[in-house]
Amino acid sequence: MQNIGAARDIGAIGVIGVIGLGNMGRGMALSLQRGGFTVVGTDASAATRDALAGEGIAVRDSIAEVIAACDMVVLSLPTAAIVAEVVAGADGIIGNAKPGMLVIDTSTSHPDTTRRLAAQLAAVGMQFMDAPVSGGPKGAITGTMTMVIGAADEDLARAEPVLAAMSAKRVHVGGVGAGHVAKIANNLFVASHLLVAGEVTRMAAKAGVPVEQLLQGINAGSGRSFVTEHSFPTWVMNGKFDSGFTMKLMRKDVRLSQELIGALDMDLPMSAKVAELWSRSAESIGDDEDFNRIVELGTRAPS
Ligand code: NAD
Repeated sequence: MQNIGAARDIGAIGVIGVIGLGNMGRGMALSLQRGGFTVVGTDASAATRDALAGEGIAVRDSIAEVIAACDMVVLSLPTAAIVAEVVAGADGIIGNAKPGMLVIDTSTSHPDTTRRLAAQLAAVGMQFMDAPVSGGPKGAITGTMTMVIGAADEDLARAEPVLAAMSAKRVHVGGVGAGHVAKIANNLFVASHLLVAGEVTRMAAKAGVPVEQLLQGINAGSGRSFVTEHSFPTWVMNGKFDSGFTMKLMRKDVRLSQELIGALDMDLPMSAKVAELWSRSAESIGDDEDFNRIVELGTRAPS
């Protein structure tokens, strides 16, 4: 579908709510503020709320207060279950419904949850769209993320100035839920590529070709990927492992892919193996470690 260009007319939308001010939500809130919006945010963690208040974001203690203050709301939450709780749980968005308000979910979530919540919101006169992101905390804070979007055309048009303040590239892949399908597919690729790159670089090193030389060759050839071109030089080879995306979140995304494959009643053995390896990685690589650490799978003792 279309690749949407960058427009920046904030029009009638003045106040944007952001629910979830973690690694990604914090940067999105600050990018929205820089883009000319007034931002009102909240987070389940008091320490996170206090940190953002110190950065000039109006922070509230409850979802009700955020909804009351804003014209449109952005979610950046860890899991589909938490998105459902924030939207439809006690004291959530539906309980404080504001007819006509658009909810933009940038979390990596399950398309079935997304479609169910969209229907529940529609019943109280509100709209929902999924706009999951890539680009990490750096992309969030610089407003240069990429979004794969599932939305009705009219909702996407309404959200455009808000999305433009947070992202450099937006691809409309279909109706509500389609963004989450595309994001799960994207992360299944990355999760697979990292596992393969970890094995292949060790194989080549043992055969006498160090990783630096190997990747020069690979990246000039047809085996290259984001992982070989970007992840290895930026986070792996220099030992930094500071992408801002955790093992816990990537393990969740790989689980989401298996849930989707299961719901579709498909047998995809390659994806199943990737999921098995990511699941087993919990024995040796902690939840809070950088997700690029998966390249070390098989080289680390169980912790
Ligand atoms: P994070 O854990 O740093 O932030 C999530 C925030 O949500 C936390 O501050 C947490 O306190 C808050 N939260 C949890 N439950 C809540 C609730 N009920 N109400 C309000 N706030 C609540 O995670 P993140 O890295 O910012 O990721 C957010 C989403 O973006 C995830 O779905 C993740 O998969 C996705 N994502 C992350 C990255 C990345 O590089 N970090 C990249 C792309 C997509």
